[in-house]
Amino acid sequence: MDPVSKETVLQQFHDTYGYPATGVWAAPGRVNLIGEHTDYNNGLCLPVALEQRTLVAAALRSDRTVRVHSRQSDETYSGSVGDIAAGWAAYPTAVVWSLAREGLPLEGIDLAVDSSVPVGAGLSSSAALTCSVALAVNDLHGSPFSRDQLVKMCIRAENEGVGAPTGGMDQTIALFARPSTALLLDCQDGSTEPIPFDLHNAGFELIVIDTRVKHSLADGQYGLRRSQCVDAAQALGVDSLREATVDQAESLSDPILRARARHVVAEIARTRQAAELLRNSRFSDVGTLFDNSHASLCDDFEVSCEELDVAVAAARRGGAIGARMTGGGFGGSAIALVPVGRGAEVTASVGREFAARGWRAPHFLTAVAGGSATRL
Ligand code: ADP
Ligand code: MG
Repeated sequence: MDPVSKETVLQQFHDTYGYPATGVWAAPGRVNLIGEHTDYNNGLCLPVALEQRTLVAAALRSDRTVRVHSRQSDETYSGSVGDIAAGWAAYPTAVVWSLAREGLPLEGIDLAVDSSVPVGAGLSSSAALTCSVALAVNDLHGSPFSRDQLVKMCIRAENEGVGAPTGGMDQTIALFARPSTALLLDCQDGSTEPIPFDLHNAGFELIVIDTRVKHSLADGQYGLRRSQCVDAAQALGVDSLREATVDQAESLSDPILRARARHVVAEIARTRQAAELLRNSRFSDVGTLFDNSHASLCDDFEVSCEELDVAVAAARRGGAIGARMTGGGFGGSAIALVPVGRGAEVTASVGREFAARGWRAPHFLTAVAGGSATRL
């Protein structure tokens, strides 16, 4: 396939609809460095935007028709303004619905979508899609909404329009990322703090290992973890686990709730520590936090799986100074912090372990902290 570019998505638009697009907008995927399963506990997370992004070419129409073509699904959806499609086109049409319900006078639109973000790999292809579409629609109407408002509208599009549970991390990083920077996101009040993340100058790279598996129990287990966290907070008499201490978590009599709370409390502390270490360019200590985070997600929160555990262990054996699963778990991706020059050994090590088990070969990408959604 051709690489994803402004030119190719403009061509795709023309091939699909027979006339030229007005412009092209892009929004990035992301990887969460640390702070997993903390967002719905009012905790902290630390995402970086990827250079991989979703592009959308767009032009307004005036006949109440909405059309969307995606190169990834190789389909064109056609419907009316306000309708939410089934399947993948739910995402862009839910964005149109979400902005329209805030008063945007949209009379119709044609969209062509192309992406270099792996779809469904835990790297937030969904927010890359919703945020690129939201920015396009907003810009084409003279930008009545701020980026803060677009974050909220994209969250609503996924939660209510598509019916996919999502915190606010993915949309916030897509719309507020800065190059060579991670974003410390406080999910209690939605505030963000840029944290320097100039890996390459420090002599490291971040390798993303897409296991290419997604275990079907993921959805039910996600809801179960959320309710266990609510139960643990209730048992401790706090509004959320953000307010709990380590001692409080350890005092819970139910062993499952105790383990879940232990993860959340410790993970929030690790995220705060990681941000502090990054401010001081202490990357090797961040590696240790990655390892501890993975162990906690595996043993206490029980959201890892064999493929993620093998990827993490093999990356460490191959020379990574720290590795962890990232995203919701039960498949998806892991990340490994690797000294520059050791990347090939790390990917070879992971590839070998997967092959030895007869698993599909994982995909690898190097994460470079990129910027936020923009018009190209
Ligand atoms: P993630 O956001 O981690 O990639 P999700 O399950 O949240 O995983 O979102 C993936 C879904 O988003 C896909 O199943 C598809 O419906 C939709 N999607 C994302 N990117 C695209 C794209 N480029 N073309 C079509 N659909 C897409
Ligand atoms: Mg998603």
